[in-house]
Formats: sequence, structure tokens, C-alpha cells
Amino acid sequence: MPKYNIDPWEMALNQLGEAARRLDLQKDILRVLSFPRREYTVNFPVRMDDGSIQVFTGYRVQHNAARGPSKGGIRFHPQVTLNEVKALAMWMTWKCAVVNIPYGGAKGGVICDPKKLQVSELERLARRYAFELIPIIGPEQDIPAPDVNTNPQVMAWIMDTYSMHAGYSVPGIVTGKPVSIGGSLGRNEATARGCVFVVLNALKHLDLPIEDLRVVVQGYGNAGSIAARLLAREGATVIAVSDSRGGIYNPKGLDPGAVLEYKAESGSVVGFAGADSVTNAQLLELDCDLLVPAALEKQITADNAPRIKARLIAEAANGPTTPEADCILAEKGVTVIPDILANAGGVTVSYFEWVQSTQSYFWTEREVNLKLRDVMDRAWAAVAAKAEDAQVTLRTAALMLAVERVADAIAIRGVYP
Ligand code: GLU
Repeated sequence: MPKYNIDPWEMALNQLGEAARRLDLQKDILRVLSFPRREYTVNFPVRMDDGSIQVFTGYRVQHNAARGPSKGGIRFHPQVTLNEVKALAMWMTWKCAVVNIPYGGAKGGVICDPKKLQVSELERLARRYAFELIPIIGPEQDIPAPDVNTNPQVMAWIMDTYSMHAGYSVPGIVTGKPVSIGGSLGRNEATARGCVFVVLNALKHLDLPIEDLRVVVQGYGNAGSIAARLLAREGATVIAVSDSRGGIYNPKGLDPGAVLEYKAESGSVVGFAGADSVTNAQLLELDCDLLVPAALEKQITADNAPRIKARLIAEAANGPTTPEADCILAEKGVTVIPDILANAGGVTVSYFEWVQSTQSYFWTEREVNLKLRDVMDRAWAAVAAKAEDAQVTLRTAALMLAVERVADAIAIRGVYP
């Protein structure tokens, strides 16, 4: 098997092992952290528009709840596997700890291709999956949110299904829901905005002016498309972007807003006028200063890492870089802002949303963005200081910080009974 085919769960365990070694973590605590608390698999029927019944498989994994209720998104994708969801759940534990919000980590996924489903079918799928999760989710125990191919509408269906079964509205059951039913202003942009805040910190650290920055973004969904627009607004030049169908490149710069409009009409960024087409593989290796992987796991591998030209990588996606690629990039002197820091803005504003929802007291968008900036700046400073102190990469530093916080919570709570 080629090395870059590493399983995501193996990847997550490998990263945990590296942080544990550096921290000299107690073996007992490492053992606890090496298992998800719960792995829930559901196979459920959905009536399709043609009258037939299909059976779908979904997962919800809760990795850890020592610091608070478990938290994490739900993705709809044909390649979802239990091991992928386990890895994503563990990364959520670390992410919440890095930004120091009172949550543990979880993740959900349904094996399906939402691009091939009618909206009516998608709604029945989301509702039935939500129903199947009722025994293990709740505003005090496990709070879902959007992830790959899910959005505020899907969250509204989940919130409604859960509320119908409770007999009253439970807005705190999900985050990333529409503002009209208790969602937070600024949540939709939060992942990208948080990513831009840490990029600005990294640029200061590296003494790179944003006006000189040529940016490549892989993935043009919620995180990628908004990050491209925010970076362009800060003065950077976005030279290439891609989605699952392919990429577009113009060394003189693209207008990210116009690309988004084009994608909304045509279904893809491919074919955008005034740009050359590139494959996703070529896109990652383009000559640029900042690379923002904002799609799926395992995009930067031992195979392509030696040819990556970016000086800085900001992981808006979860798990885009394999551990082997990490070593290659570190040797090349590429700074990687790890996923658990770079994309933590999403779950941070999810936390703000949950606080607002459960108190029925809402903040302005300005308040949300200022609080987000504060959290991201503090997390960046803590991770950068740890990296300096321990002489490790930002990823290992972020993991060390997170694992230490979670380990402390486990140790002080003790093992029941
Ligand atoms: N799916 C997002 C992530 O991977 C957001 C999770 C959340 O808001 O709970 O961080």
C-alpha cells in the first residue's frame, strides 16, 4: 500500500503519540485518549422520491467529554468511514482544547452523495439520521454542527426533528443553524474568519506583508470560498482556487466573489472566464506564498510535499496533511498552521451560538467577531510560545497544549467509579 494511503485514525493516533512523547504523558492517560468514548453506528431506511426505500449508514463518534459536552460537525459524503469519523472526533477534542472552550470532541457522518439526492430526499435522510441519534445527542451532551456538504438548512431539520420529539423547541441542540431560529450572527463566516485571524498573526511572525501574498485555496465550500474573499479584502492576491471538479489559475489574481457567483450558477469553479484550468494535484504545487487546503483529509502527502512551494500553509480543512508530509514540510522550512488552530474559528462561534441559544440572549455581529478575534489571537500566542519553548512545529505545539488540557481534566475528575 502506498504510504500516502495512511488511514486517518492512524494519522490521529500518530499525532497524539508524538505529543504524548514530548509531554512525557502518563501511559494511563494516553490509553484513555487513544480510544473514542463512544462509536455509534446507525443503518436507517429513507423513502426515495421514486417510492423505493434505500438504507443509509451513519456514524456519530464521541471521542472525549472530560472538559464538557462533546461537539463537532456532521458530514455527508460518499467516502465517509468509521475510522475517518473517529479521527475527526479526536481532532475536535484537541481543537476545542486549543481555543480553550468547554467542550469535548465528536463528529458525525453519513455515507451518501448529497449531489445525487433531491432536496426532499436529503431532508428525509437528515431527519431520520437525527432521530437515530436522539439517545446520544443533546444540548448538555453532544451538539452537532455543519461540516462537509451540510449547511444551516440541514441543521434546521435536525433541530426541528429533535424538538418535535422533545415536545418543545430545543435551539441548543445544534449550532450553525439559521439566525431566524436562534443561530448566531457571524457563524457562517467563522471558520474562514478565524483562519484569517491566525494567518495575520503568522504573517506578523514571519515578517511577510499581506499585500505581497499570493494565495492558493483548495476547496471552495464554506471555509475556502469565504477565506478567499476575506484574504483578498485584506490585500492578498488569490491566484488559484479549486473544488471537487478541478481548479482555476490566474497568476494576476482572481476575484473570489465573482468566482463564487459563477460556482453558484454553474455548480463548479471550473470554466470561470479569464483563468486557466489546473487539476487539484497541480494546484497544490503552484508557486505561491500561502496555501489554504480547505477540502478533505490527506491532500498533502509524502508524495507531493517535496514539491509544495508555499511558504505558509493554513489548514482550513481537517487533517489535510499526513504525518510524513509534516516532517518533509518542516525540513523544507514551511510553516504549517495546524487544522486544530487554523479552523477552530468555526467551533468557537458554535460555542458562542450555544451560549446565546441556551440563554436566549443574542449578540451583535461585531460582538461575535471581536470575541472570536480575541480567542484566536490568544490561541495563536499560546501555540506559538509553546512551539518556541519546546522547539517543535506549530502542530506538535498545538497538540501538546490541547492534550495537556484534556489530560488535566481527566486526571482531576478521576476514573469512575
Ligand atoms: N465542522 C466544523 C469543524 O470541523 C465545526 C464544528 C462545530 O462547530 O461544532 O470544526
